[in-house]
Amino acid sequence: MTVEPRPDVALMPGYHSPQLDVAVRLNTNEAPEPPPPAFVERLAEEVRRVRWNRYPDRSYTALRTALAELHGVAPDQVFAANGSNEVLQTLLLAYGGPGRTAAVFEPTYALHGHIARITGTAVCTGERAADLTLDLDEVRRVLEAHEPVVTFLCSPNNPTGLVEPPEAVAAVADLAPGLLVVDEAYGQFARWSALELVDEGRDVVVTRTFSKTWSMAAGRLGYLVGPSWLVAELDKVVLPYHLDAVTQVAGTLAVAHVEEMEARVARLVEERGRLLAALRELPVDVWPSEANFVLFRPRERSGDEVWKALVERSVLVRNCSSWPRLDGCLRVTIGTPAEDDAFLSALREVLT
Ligand SMILES: *Cc1c(COP(=O)(O)O)cnc(C)c1O
Repeated sequence: MTVEPRPDVALMPGYHSPQLDVAVRLNTNEAPEPPPPAFVERLAEEVRRVRWNRYPDRSYTALRTALAELHGVAPDQVFAANGSNEVLQTLLLAYGGPGRTAAVFEPTYALHGHIARITGTAVCTGERAADLTLDLDEVRRVLEAHEPVVTFLCSPNNPTGLVEPPEAVAAVADLAPGLLVVDEAYGQFARWSALELVDEGRDVVVTRTFSKTWSMAAGRLGYLVGPSWLVAELDKVVLPYHLDAVTQVAGTLAVAHVEEMEARVARLVEERGRLLAALRELPVDVWPSEANFVLFRPRERSGDEVWKALVERSVLVRNCSSWPRLDGCLRVTIGTPAEDDAFLSALREVLT
């Protein structure tokens, strides 16, 4: 006899992004450049100093303080974990669970619903408008019907790249009967941040990650900014010493290099403008993006066909064409100018 997993988990599809061996990899929204060389040097020195026989600082004081200073909040309003996905999981372990519901508005980041289900939280789904923006009437309907304890927004939204307008996020914060989680994995690329809504008296948290802007996807570090009473609950739920010493020091050092990171964001935003302009010259529909990726739909050929033809030309983008509401769509990450040129010339060849 073999042991069976929880039936709800056994029936669940996993979360995958195919990693093929190609020259130009523009499928997972990572930063195209490594972190600044000075950061890598200092990190190597710090790693030599780690006291490996001792547990790390359980409350990651230096990192927490650095992140708090970065955002002008108190250290006890910051919770960090191994990637923002672990932050989301910890939120759902504390606030979700059997008998509780989380709300998502599709299309959006698949892991919000996925992590909720893994924690035994039911998921209720609302639909975005035809242009993939948030429909506040639909939000109201879903929140009233299901009374979710957690409501997820993603701004800029993955995979559309659309930013949620400030009035819409404020309206959802007012409508939500429980906690509003604004996932800002791409927040630095957008014109505004929901961080301004975070307040001790409001059930709103904003999550961020080092995986995209900070060129640290390999390091696994994410965090949230929220009310201190909520952070205190998360501290109870997360495993002891969950953030290892190297991750802590890497995050603290990265924050010390914030200017270089901001310069990278500025370069990527400029490059995004160039890519958007070039895509608009081609027979594709393009969504205006405020993230480091662009969603587009070839008009005359199927998304699958175009995706395969790009892979044959050694360019990998994300194939979203079978995702709900995203029939025929592909998502391309902003890379280096050379990578983007390779993508554009491959796409031109495929489409014309
Ligand atoms: C990439 C991404 C994350 C990042 O997850 P990490 O675990 O921090 O790497 C979180 N949310 C969204 C919407 C993303 O696209």
